[in-house]
Order: sequence, then C-alpha cells, then structure tokens
Amino acid sequence: MSSRNDKFESWVPRTRLGKMILERKISSIEELFMEGLKIRESEIVDLLLPDLQEEVINIGLVQKQTDAGEKSQFRAIVVVGNRDGYVGLGSGKARQVRSAIEKAAVDARLHITPIRRGCGSWECGCGKPHSMPFQVRGECGGVEIVLIPGPRGLGIVASEAAKVILGLAGVKDCWTKSYGSTRTVPSFAFAVFDALKKTYLLVTPKDWVS
Ligand SMILES: [Zn+2]
Repeated sequence: MSSRNDKFESWVPRTRLGKMILERKISSIEELFMEGLKIRESEIVDLLLPDLQEEVINIGLVQKQTDAGEKSQFRAIVVVGNRDGYVGLGSGKARQVRSAIEKAAVDARLHITPIRRGCGSWECGCGKPHSMPFQVRGECGGVEIVLIPGPRGLGIVASEAAKVILGLAGVKDCWTKSYGSTRTVPSFAFAVFDALKKTYLLVTPKDWVS
C-alpha cells in the first residue's frame, strides 16, 4: 500500500474522476465501467489496477509526407493487462522509440476494458473462467480473428502477439483462427483486442458483475 501511495504522491489529477479516485471516493475499476465513466488520465488505471503489466507488441517505422519533406516516426503498439480480466491496447508515434512506447503505454491504459472469461468449451465444461465464454470475432485493417473457447490445459493456440494479449487479459486456453493480412502485426493486435472487447459488449453488466 505504501509504495502505491508514494507513486501517486505528486500526481495532480486534471479531471473530476481523477480527484474522486485520489480521494478514494471510487476504489474499484468495476465501478467506472458500471457507471460508464470515461477514463481520461492513465494514472487512474495504475491506481485502480496496481498489478497492471505492460508489454511492447510491435515497433515499426512510419513515413509521413509533410510540406517540409518526408518525416519518419516510430509507431509502437503496447498492451497492458492484469492477467485477470482487464486488458488495454494502445499505439503511440514519436521520433524516438522510447517516446513512442511511452505514448502507447498511456494510450493502452486509456483504452483498458473489462473482458468476460468463461468455459465455453464443449470438450471441457468445467465452468471456470479459463477460456472464452463463447466464440468472438474481431477485425481491424483487413485482418479478422476468431477466438474459440478451448479446454483446460490447451494453452493459447495463436501467434506470438495474440498470445501476449490474451495472456495479459487472463485467458489461459483458447483456439484462434485468423484471416487476411495477419502478418501486419498492428492490425492483427487490434483485431484481437476488438474480439476481446466483444466478450464484454455482448453481455449486460448484470452478467459479469458478481
Ligand atoms: Zn473448462
């Protein structure tokens, strides 16, 4: 607890929600999603999810044509998650790799989302939240991915980027099928995130709270 306080001793929230969290009027991330409150400060996520982990999924070079000529920047894709039902994916662009990663890490926190886990595998039927509750499909930039519930002990049958994202979300066993330009890692990562978000959007808050 003390390390958590030290880290945020100097933080001055800019939003009403940030102030409420610092004053501990809101103490769980579930409340934010129940109330439909939008997170505009990444510090909120670190305060409410102190076990959050972060991974860099991809770093690429992007060229942009400007009046002054061609400008190249790095684009980083970062995922954050608590390995227990919360995951966020973000991107950031900058001239330096390190700044691009920092921007992406903030963006990932601002896009944190609850996901619903379950055992939708007919082969398993254990009822524990180790996999997906049902099949979900996600897409981004010509990449489509289907996440299919799998039995306990299967592991995550997917490419490296999907493994990292699903792992940080807290999914342990799952099959995946993907279509389109799956080698485009940023689009692929966002397609996985899109599919994960659907586990939550396809149910009512009543179903996932408790
Ligand atoms: Zn099961």
